[in-house]
Amino acid sequence: MSTEVRPDSYYGPSFPALLEQDPEIARLLVSELDRQRAGIQLIASENQTSPAVLAALGSTLSNKYAEGYPGRRYYGGCSEVDQVEELAIARAKELFGADHANVQPHSGASANQAVYGAFVKPGEKVLAMSLDHGGHLTHGFKVSFSGKWFDAVHYGVSRETEDIDYDQVRDLAREHRPKIILAGGSAVPRLIDFAAFRAIADEVGAVFWVDAAHFIGLVAGGAIPSPVPHADVVSFTTHKVLRGPRGGAIVCKEEHAAKIDRAVFPMMQGGPLMHAVAAKAVNFAECATPEYREYAGRVVRNAAALAGELGERGIRPITGGTDTHLSLHDLREVGVTGADAEKRCDAAGIVLNKNAIPFDPEKPNVASGIRVGSPSVTTQGMGEEQMRQVAALIHRAVTASDGDPEHPVAREVRAQVGEVLSAFPAYPAA
Ligand SMILES: *Cc1c(COP(=O)(O)O)cnc(C)c1O
Repeated sequence: MSTEVRPDSYYGPSFPALLEQDPEIARLLVSELDRQRAGIQLIASENQTSPAVLAALGSTLSNKYAEGYPGRRYYGGCSEVDQVEELAIARAKELFGADHANVQPHSGASANQAVYGAFVKPGEKVLAMSLDHGGHLTHGFKVSFSGKWFDAVHYGVSRETEDIDYDQVRDLAREHRPKIILAGGSAVPRLIDFAAFRAIADEVGAVFWVDAAHFIGLVAGGAIPSPVPHADVVSFTTHKVLRGPRGGAIVCKEEHAAKIDRAVFPMMQGGPLMHAVAAKAVNFAECATPEYREYAGRVVRNAAALAGELGERGIRPITGGTDTHLSLHDLREVGVTGADAEKRCDAAGIVLNKNAIPFDPEKPNVASGIRVGSPSVTTQGMGEEQMRQVAALIHRAVTASDGDPEHPVAREVRAQVGEVLSAFPAYPAA
C-alpha cells in the first residue's frame, strides 16, 4: 500500500477522482501496472491492450442497459449504443470475412456456452480435444458445465508427433456420431488442419465448431490461416493475441446467425457490456491496420525463436517447435517440474505458467512442462534477439535457482530482466 502514485500514471484524466475517493483501490491499480511493467510477461493468453481500448472500457457506456440487438432492444435510449454495436459487428465481419458476428459474449466461456446452446441439448454428444492434451475446460471437461451437461468424447495428440491425431478424430467421430466436432484449445502450438476437421464433420453430419480463443489474433493479422471459411461457427476471446478488451465473440455462417444470436441473448446472457462492445470495436479497427499485421507476424517469429532457443538449451518444445504464438516445453531432461520452474522464473522476474505435457506422468498441479507465449513481449517491441536472451534467462533461473527471490541467481537474472525491460518497457510513460 506504499505505492507512489506518479504524475505519469497511466490511468488517464478520471484517475485523480478515483485516487481521492478510494485510494485503497487506486493504489492497487497502480501497483498492478507496476507489476505488469516489472516482469517479462510470457503467459500465452495475456497481452497489453491499447490506451484507446482502455478508454472505451472506462466509459459511461457501462451504465446502459441494451438487452436485445441493434434496432431490436428491450430498453429505450439505445440510439448511441446501437451505433456502437453496429460498428463492432461490421468491423468483425470485415476483419474475419464472416457472414455474421455476435459481439456480446462476456467472455470466451460465455461464447462457448452460447455455441452449445445453439446446437446441442443436454445429454447430446460432442467431440473435442481433451484438456490434458491441450483442450479447454469448456470443451467437455467434467468440472465444467460442458462436461456436466453434455456427453463429451475426447481426442488427443499422437505420441509420435505430439500433434493432433486426425485418425483418432475420424475414428471417434464415426463411432460416436457427435452433434458437434470442436477444434481448438489452450496449449496447441501447431496449425490446425481445418479442412481435415471439416471433411470429418461432413462425413458424420456434425456441426464443425472452432474455438479460436488463443490464436484468432494471428488470423486477424494474417499470420496464420483462418478457420472462418471452413467452420460453421468460430468462437473466440478478444483479449489474447487479438489484444482487445477482456471478452468474447462469435462469428458464423449466415444459416446459423439467428440461432447464435438467440443463444447469446436471451438464452445465456442478459444485458451486453456495452463499454466492452465499444472496446471490441476499437480493437477490431486496430487489428485491420498494417501495424497490427506486422505485430502478428512478429508474434509468430518471436515464439519460434523462443521455442528454438529453449530447445537448444535442453528444454524441449513439444512437437519440436511452434507455428503460433505459444510453445509447450518438456522439462524432464533438465529434471525440474513445471511447478518448480514456474516458481523459480517468478522469483527471477519472468512470468510463465506450468503446463501438463501430453501423456504427462505428473499430476496437473505439478506438471512436467511450461507454456510460454510471445504476445505481450512482442507488444513491448521485443524481437528474436530478445527472445533468445529471454530463453537463456529462463534456462538459468530454472536450472540454477531455487524459487527464493534472494537466491543469487534469482537476483542476477532479475537484474538482466530489468535491462531487457528498460529497452522495451510495457506502457511506456508518455
Ligand atoms: C481462454 C480460452 C477460453 C475462455 O476464455 P475466458 O474469457 O477465460 O472465459 C475458451 N476457450 C479457449 C480455447 C481458451 O483458450
